[in-house]
Amino acid sequence: MTTLIEKAQAGFAQRFGDSAPDGVWSAPGRANLIGEHTDYNGGFVLPFAIDRRTVVAARLNGSSTYRVGSHMFDDVVTATIADVAAGSLPRWSTYVLGVASILDADSPSDRPRGVDLFVTSDVPLGAGLSSSAALESAVAVALNDLWHLGRTETELAQVGQRTENTIVGAPTGIMDQSASIKGRADSVIFLDCRSLETEVVPLGFAEAGLALLIVDTREEHSHATNGYAARRASCELAAKTLGIDLLRDATMTDLIAAKGKLDDETFRRARHVITEDARVLETVRLLRDEGPKSIGPLLTESHNSLRDDFEVTTDRLNTVVEASLSAGALGARMTGGGFGGCAIALIEEPEIDAVTDAVRLAFSDKGFSEPTIFVAVPSDGARRDV
Ligand code: ADP
Ligand code: MG
Repeated sequence: MTTLIEKAQAGFAQRFGDSAPDGVWSAPGRANLIGEHTDYNGGFVLPFAIDRRTVVAARLNGSSTYRVGSHMFDDVVTATIADVAAGSLPRWSTYVLGVASILDADSPSDRPRGVDLFVTSDVPLGAGLSSSAALESAVAVALNDLWHLGRTETELAQVGQRTENTIVGAPTGIMDQSASIKGRADSVIFLDCRSLETEVVPLGFAEAGLALLIVDTREEHSHATNGYAARRASCELAAKTLGIDLLRDATMTDLIAAKGKLDDETFRRARHVITEDARVLETVRLLRDEGPKSIGPLLTESHNSLRDDFEVTTDRLNTVVEASLSAGALGARMTGGGFGGCAIALIEEPEIDAVTDAVRLAFSDKGFSEPTIFVAVPSDGARRDV
């Protein structure tokens, strides 16, 4: 089987005239174990890097021009940094050139910095597994090396987030890039979204014989943009009513005391955020003290809270969770922003086929289109491969 690294090298040679890149770098997609819609409330998340990666082969070309190709497109995008600000580039290339423009502006140099760069990937696109962060992170580590910038992992993650926010125009948090850059095998990244401090927490899934199944419902996120904005607005309103900047600083006691000042919907939105932060902290404690088999119920409670209080699940996401649990999963939940996308199930390895079959059957019984199901192995983050 041709590896992704070989595909990146072959694509590079094909696009840029049969020559070799200076190096090959890669970064993974991510899934979130628990901690949903807590990031923009300054709270806690617990993502992991998955074993699906975006690989870039790149070379300094000695000019100030960038030439960027992808396995998804035949044409190479040729541009300068000035073209990024002009806003006329194909959208996909702005993930790459945005990272270049931000790194370049932050540490200017007299030397020509143009690169030839080819991207390939096996991260599913637009499925909520953050192919966008995988792309930004792979490019960020590549340019950090090629330009000898010496940036820290946290700084490179922030460059990816700024690219997404200010150049691509997606109002996302720092979670995806943090997981993609800092991920470690068989571990989760415990991220405090306010201080941006991270800690690697070992999962011990391999030793405990546990597997994580990812089910991509392949559901269109038709309400995602409006729904996301509305949820953020509810959280801001709740925080303001409680007299704090971020719901991260509220306890359930505070919320209950303010119940009379909040409408029922806003109360429930805030209750999700406050209880979800507590579930993340409890998951970390259980992983450290009791082992990974004990976290299942917290995953399911997270899903129930997202379904009932935050109201961002869909029939398909609920079906994945119900079918997985009936077939013996230890816990299951939607992962990502909701309104479609993916769910995860924590299962004992011998149950992989039983849970997979149960989810497929439940989908066909309800007339849903077939989901994509695969085992995700928590993996290492961004790195130089060649
Ligand atoms: P997600 O991050 O959930 O996969 P996004 O919409 O945030 O979904 O990002 C997907 C977009 O990122 C694609 O539409 C494309 O523009 C860009 N992208 C990601 N990976 C690649 C790739 N390998 N080649 C070209 N563009 C890519
Ligand atoms: Mg994305």
